[in-house]
Amino acid sequence: MLLFTPGPTPVPESVRLAMATPTLHHRTPEFEAIFAETRALLFNLLATDEVIMLASTGTGAMEAAVTNLCHDTLLSINSGKFGERFGKIALASGLKNVEIKHEWDTPASVEEVLEAVKANPSIDAVAIQVSESAGGLRHPVEEIAAAVKAVNPSIMIIADGITAVGVEYVDIANIDCLIAGSQKALMLPPGLSILGLSYAAIEKVGDGKGYYFNLASEIKKQKQNTTAYTAATTLIIGLRAVLQESEASGGFGVLYAATARRAKATRFALEALGLHSYPDTPARSMTTIDDENAQEIRDLLKTEFAVNVAGGQDHLKGKIFRINQMGLIPTYEMVWVVNAVELALAKLGRREFDGTASRVFNEEYFKSSLKKEEK
Ligand SMILES: *Cc1c(COP(=O)(O)O)cnc(C)c1O
Repeated sequence: MLLFTPGPTPVPESVRLAMATPTLHHRTPEFEAIFAETRALLFNLLATDEVIMLASTGTGAMEAAVTNLCHDTLLSINSGKFGERFGKIALASGLKNVEIKHEWDTPASVEEVLEAVKANPSIDAVAIQVSESAGGLRHPVEEIAAAVKAVNPSIMIIADGITAVGVEYVDIANIDCLIAGSQKALMLPPGLSILGLSYAAIEKVGDGKGYYFNLASEIKKQKQNTTAYTAATTLIIGLRAVLQESEASGGFGVLYAATARRAKATRFALEALGLHSYPDTPARSMTTIDDENAQEIRDLLKTEFAVNVAGGQDHLKGKIFRINQMGLIPTYEMVWVVNAVELALAKLGRREFDGTASRVFNEEYFKSSLKKEEK
C-alpha cells in the first residue's frame, strides 16, 4: 500500500536504519556531539537565530510558542482545524483570543489581519499556519508578517510550518517563531517538534512560561547541546540522517523545486479529469480535491489500487481527499496515484478511462526536462 496521506509520511529506509542503532544515554559526550551536528543542520534549514527541539508532537511546539510568546491576546487565523487549535491553546492557557475565521478553502488577507491588529491594541502575538493542512491551503504568511511588523514590530509572529518547512522556502525575515514537526515534511516518525526563534522572540521569552514547555530552560540547555529533560534521542538521530542526506543530495532547494513541480503536475492531471482543486491558494504540501464522490474515490484507491490518501475532517468529512506531496516521493509513484484516481472515476461511471491523468502528469512534469536534455 502506498502511503499518500499528508502526515504521517513514509520514512526513508536509510533513516530507519540510522534509528536502529542501540539506544544512547542522552547525558553523554557521544549524544551531545550528535545533538550539536543536528542543531547545526537545523540552523541551515530554518535560518532562524535559535533552534529548539522538543520531545513532543507538533501541537506541543504550538503550545510552547503561544504560552511563551503571547502574554496578553493572541490573534489566530482559523481557516481550518490547525488554525482553530491556536485559539484553543490560547484560551486553555488563560490568554485572550481574537480569531479571524474563514471557510477551509479561504486564506487570510493582509488587510483583515491589519484591521484586527489595529482594532485590538492588546494583541501581542499573531499565530498562523504557513500551510493549513485541513483544506490544503497556503496563507500569505510572509506578507502578513511584514505588514504586522510595519504597524507594530513588538507583535510576535508565530508561523506553524509543520507542513511547510522542508516542503518549500519560507522567508523568515518577519517571523519570530517557525514551527516544524517530525512526521510530516521531515519524513520521521511522530514525537519530535522544532521551533526556530528570532532574537526578538528570545527576548520576549525572558524567564519563560510554564514548566515542561518553558522555552527559557530549553534555550539555555540547548545552546550547550543538551536538553532540559530527556531528549528524543532516536528521533534526533533520525533527523540528523534526514538533514545530512538532504545536504548531500544538493540541499533542500532541490527538494523544494521537485516538490513544486510534482504538486503542480498532480493538480493539472486531476483537473484534466474534471476534478476541482479545493483551496483558493493550494499549498505545495498536498493536493486537495473536493468532490461529491470523495469517499468512494478514497475507498476505491485503497481497495483496488493500493493507494492510501487522506479524507477530510469535521464538516469536510467525505467531501474532500488529500494527496501528500511532502518528503522524498518517487515520481513514478505519483504517476500511479493520478492514474489510479482516473481508474476510480471510470469505475464510478463518471468518465471513460483514456489515460488522460498520467499523460497530463508526464507532460507537465517531464516534458520540460526532456527539452533541456535535447539541447
Ligand atoms: C499535523 C499538524 C499539526 C499538529 O501536529 P501533531 O504532530 O499532530 O501534534 C499542526 N499544524 C499543522 C499545519 C499540521 O499539519
